[in-house]
Amino acid sequence: MGGESSKSKQPSDVEENYQTKLFNVERADDQLPIVYSDEYNIRFGGMQKLHPFDSEKWGRIATYLENAKMLNVKDMVKPLEPTKSDLLMVHTEKYLKSLKSSWNVAIITEVLPVGFVPNSIVQRVLLRRLRLQTGGTILGAKLALESGWCINIGGGFHHCSGESGGGFCAYADISLAIKFLLKHFPEVKSAMIIDLDAHQGNGHERDFLDDERVYILDAYNHSIYPGDSTAKRSIRKEMKLRFHTNDSTYLPLIDKGIDEALKEFKPDFILFNAGTDILDGDPLGMLNISSQGIIERDEIVFRKARTLQIPILMVTSGGYQRCTARVIADSILNLKEKGLLEVKSNPGSSVNEAVKDT
Ligand SMILES: [Zn+2]
Repeated sequence: MGGESSKSKQPSDVEENYQTKLFNVERADDQLPIVYSDEYNIRFGGMQKLHPFDSEKWGRIATYLENAKMLNVKDMVKPLEPTKSDLLMVHTEKYLKSLKSSWNVAIITEVLPVGFVPNSIVQRVLLRRLRLQTGGTILGAKLALESGWCINIGGGFHHCSGESGGGFCAYADISLAIKFLLKHFPEVKSAMIIDLDAHQGNGHERDFLDDERVYILDAYNHSIYPGDSTAKRSIRKEMKLRFHTNDSTYLPLIDKGIDEALKEFKPDFILFNAGTDILDGDPLGMLNISSQGIIERDEIVFRKARTLQIPILMVTSGGYQRCTARVIADSILNLKEKGLLEVKSNPGSSVNEAVKDT
């Protein structure tokens, strides 16, 4: 997949003054800015057990965090599902219409049996869940501005652009979140995408071609999907990784690359696409980063953003081995332990110190 020819980006069909309701969800004083819904998880009548892909990864991450007593699942911030008008901020009518064919959805999600399922069921058990995760990324962007940081336990569909899906990505949540911020928050005039999933983030790259406000750093295995040369024109800091890159090569490279990017460009917001398919043994990523390497990577990114006081939103993106959820949860727990998840006051609220230690 991928490699579809690119047309220059058309303005979306959404009305100029459209106001989304996705930002209406507020974080309560006793909530951490961690966004999640049980409805993120995809349960396809037992099919999830047959497929190597862990389609309940998001629920497992939430449960691990709850078991570690960081926070309860019921206390996570629940996003709203984007409406068609919300999606039109980035997507074309034509693309959204294409999702009404189960065959198209099967190709995008790379789960071919989906093509045989009536579209009403595909919408309910699959696309609605991905839309909710998309709503989570958009809401998470606002919460990151308010609180200094936010983690959406799902999202990170970085192969989807406004016009085309692929590689399991049906909605362009990263592009949507950034476009909504640029439109509705005057303090956000620029953004940086730090895309550390094993694959090239060709979706958001296509959506921000020639957009000077968005700086894209992409570190990816350059010998695997999608190899999208048009999208590459958007990358301002490119780090091509070879098969089987290990921690000792990867971590200093990331550390230095992000430093250089942040010297060159001062964003008002960072979106961190924290894919875990760089993990050793991932059949798609083909890199050899250890669990500890992922934990250190996430710490490097958060420390830089938090030190410079740039709001950061992390999304979890690719990586669907059975062990992945544990690694992501451990990484979030490490960020907390290192004092990188302290909560800035909500405007007009008295956010308590106690939150940090719940
Ligand atoms: Zn990936």
